[in-house]
Amino acid sequence: MATPNLPSDTMLAAVLEQFGEPYSMQQIPRPGSPQGQDILIKVLAASYCHTDAVFASGQLSQDLPRVGCHEFAGEIIALGPDVSSEQELAVGVRVGVPGRAYHPCGACYECTHPDKDIMGYSPYCPSSGNLGLTRDGGFQQYCLVDSRQVAMIPDGLTATQTAPLMCAGLTIWAALHHDKVRWASGIAILGAGGGLGHLGVQFAAHLGMQVLAIDANDRSLELLQQIKATLGPVGQRVYITDARKYDISAMPALIQKSSPDIPVTELGVDAVILLPESQAAFDMGMNLLRNHGTMVVVSFPEKKLEVSAHDLVFRDINVVGSLVGRNHQLREMLVFATKHGVSAKVKTFPFEQLNNLVEEYHKGYGGKLVVDMTL
Ligand SMILES: [Zn+2]
Ligand SMILES: [Zn+2]
Repeated sequence: MATPNLPSDTMLAAVLEQFGEPYSMQQIPRPGSPQGQDILIKVLAASYCHTDAVFASGQLSQDLPRVGCHEFAGEIIALGPDVSSEQELAVGVRVGVPGRAYHPCGACYECTHPDKDIMGYSPYCPSSGNLGLTRDGGFQQYCLVDSRQVAMIPDGLTATQTAPLMCAGLTIWAALHHDKVRWASGIAILGAGGGLGHLGVQFAAHLGMQVLAIDANDRSLELLQQIKATLGPVGQRVYITDARKYDISAMPALIQKSSPDIPVTELGVDAVILLPESQAAFDMGMNLLRNHGTMVVVSFPEKKLEVSAHDLVFRDINVVGSLVGRNHQLREMLVFATKHGVSAKVKTFPFEQLNNLVEEYHKGYGGKLVVDMTL
């Protein structure tokens, strides 16, 4: 059901032409009619992720030029001829777009073991592309996306609120739903005042978990106080902790002493979600875990993380990783976020000011920085 009369003129795009340089704002040809299972969307909001910064620095050794952004939201302009009617997508429908899994192969182990997702399709397919990394992403006015990877935006959720949920939100949602974490009653989030962390604190509290929200700079701790204040009664489950105030090795006992209600036994919490890219944070997390607890590594430091065999053997600690979530998790997360009012702390910029947004990012803004294409 392709839409006729698509204007085939140009559009504004933010193109990364050189690593380490700002985006070049330029007019480029607008994508043509979508083919196969693709849809063409008009981008409404596009969020800046840490991976965009890593990509722009040249560390991922991908090809340039590239239009960045892998967490965005838009309105459907046209559908390819093979878009499944089961998706209930139509012109005018608003969708959230995570960058992963553009055109999965449909035949590999991942695609044929979809874990509640569409058979023949997996966001973990190793052959698929990534919008914003290997294909042009959301920092442009129109974008071709794979209909199988999008989620309809529930009524009541804005595009600027949806965009940050597409990578940051989904990643932390998936970590909280890891098989070894979802049953946890007490967890610690390290780096809780950052982009992923402040969403994770809200999700976890609304999921019924007690949360040690740990960070180590004033700006992040202030953001956490604001977040806690918006949570209402479930905010009582959130314990904001300044990591600078504690000796790591003595942390569980000290926290327990300072806050008797806290879900930390003298041995620690059920699970730790690691967001900072540092060995020191990893070591702190290990000290917070009770025996048989689980460390979920979400960050990816440049160097290897050192794990003590003593923790694995004598304390039965599990160390697992978590990438971005599956598609059924994406949809579940959007419904949950809408129902409970989970929202990113967002600062918006007009598209033309994307490079100002990037500057703000490098100053350490605690929430999410989002381009609002309607400004
Ligand atoms: Zn595959
Ligand atoms: Zn991301």
